[in-house]
Amino acid sequence: MTSTNSTPTPVRDVVIVGGGAAGLSAALTLARARRAVTVIDAGHPRNAPAAAAHGLLGNEGISPLALLERGRTEAQSYGAEVLHARVTSATAHGTGFLVTLDDGQELAARQLLVATGARDLFPDIPGLRERWGRDVVHCPYCHGWEIRDQHIALLATGPMSAHQALLFHQWSTRVRFITNGLDFGAEELAKLAALNIPVVDEQVTGLEIADDKLTGVRLADGRSVPVDVVALPTQVEANLEGLTGLHLDTATSPVGTVVQADASGQTSVPGVWAAGNVVSPAHQISEAAANGARVAMTINTTLVFADAETALTTATSKEA
Ligand SMILES: Cc1cc2nc3c(=O)[nH]c(=O)nc-3n(C[C@H](O)[C@H](O)[C@H](O)COP(=O)(O)OP(=O)(O)OC[C@H]3O[C@@H](n4cnc5c(N)ncnc54)[C@H](O)[C@@H]3O)c2cc1C
Repeated sequence: MTSTNSTPTPVRDVVIVGGGAAGLSAALTLARARRAVTVIDAGHPRNAPAAAAHGLLGNEGISPLALLERGRTEAQSYGAEVLHARVTSATAHGTGFLVTLDDGQELAARQLLVATGARDLFPDIPGLRERWGRDVVHCPYCHGWEIRDQHIALLATGPMSAHQALLFHQWSTRVRFITNGLDFGAEELAKLAALNIPVVDEQVTGLEIADDKLTGVRLADGRSVPVDVVALPTQVEANLEGLTGLHLDTATSPVGTVVQADASGQTSVPGVWAAGNVVSPAHQISEAAANGARVAMTINTTLVFADAETALTTATSKEA
């Protein structure tokens, strides 16, 4: 590998940062399109704490890590390279990009796909993070069936939290809404009341655990509320460590911060694409995978057109 002063070789058609559902699905599509593609993955998919992935046709209930292991094998079987490493820097380099890994390796790419996912941000309540994906959950479609009819405390984190309480009520009528000190409008509170969802207007200070099971939440006024599950509509943040040198535009909403990309996956930087939770954190695994595959097709088409342009220029200059 040469220094950053000259173009390192070999230049991959596409380097994919992140090997979750989005990145591996893109790698499978690009490898099958006979592209030289390398995936760099640090190995911490967002749903790693969960024992099983649900709502996934053909793979219902599979372990999240087993699913990705299967995905890596499938992509590699068509020639994709998958490296277990973390990207520590990525910059524009000539007409493409240069990516540096935490083991010092440098990779050059014509196009870059950012599929680094997003991370959930937790309120400052001891123990919440440790129980994430077990009895502290965020997504009724991921966990709702498993916690059906249980006592659920919906812990408010923002303006959309009352809606989340209505949603979880579809899976259990034993939902309590804990405002955690936030204010909600009369209309939202009326809807909760109409569904007999009690509102606890207090802050949560801690969790009660027995035999490694959640048994309740502690309130600031000293009371305890017995619950089996805390539902926590987290805010999220796109995973962009190591990628700030690309200067991608991001967008912040009440849901969190994501990378901005158009419908084709093109970011604000030509040649850099994004797919999966890094752009759409509400997306399930199947949606992230579909998004990765679709963006990969667009990247391949872009490369096909670029190569045709180059061939045309070469042919024309030979004729002249
Ligand atoms: C607790 C929980 C349970 C869930 N359960 C379900 C479920 O049952 N069903 C379902 O459909 N969805 C579920 N989801 C949603 C699911 O996690 C996402 O849809 C999915 O992970 C999105 O895939 P992705 O490829 O975009 O990101 P991820 O799966 O998060 O993959 C991103 C990858 O990029 C890597 N990465 C990040 N930065 C770098 C870097 N700088 N260099 C190298 N690699 C990097 C990460 O380590 C990670 O491996 C759940 C989410 C959570 C939080």
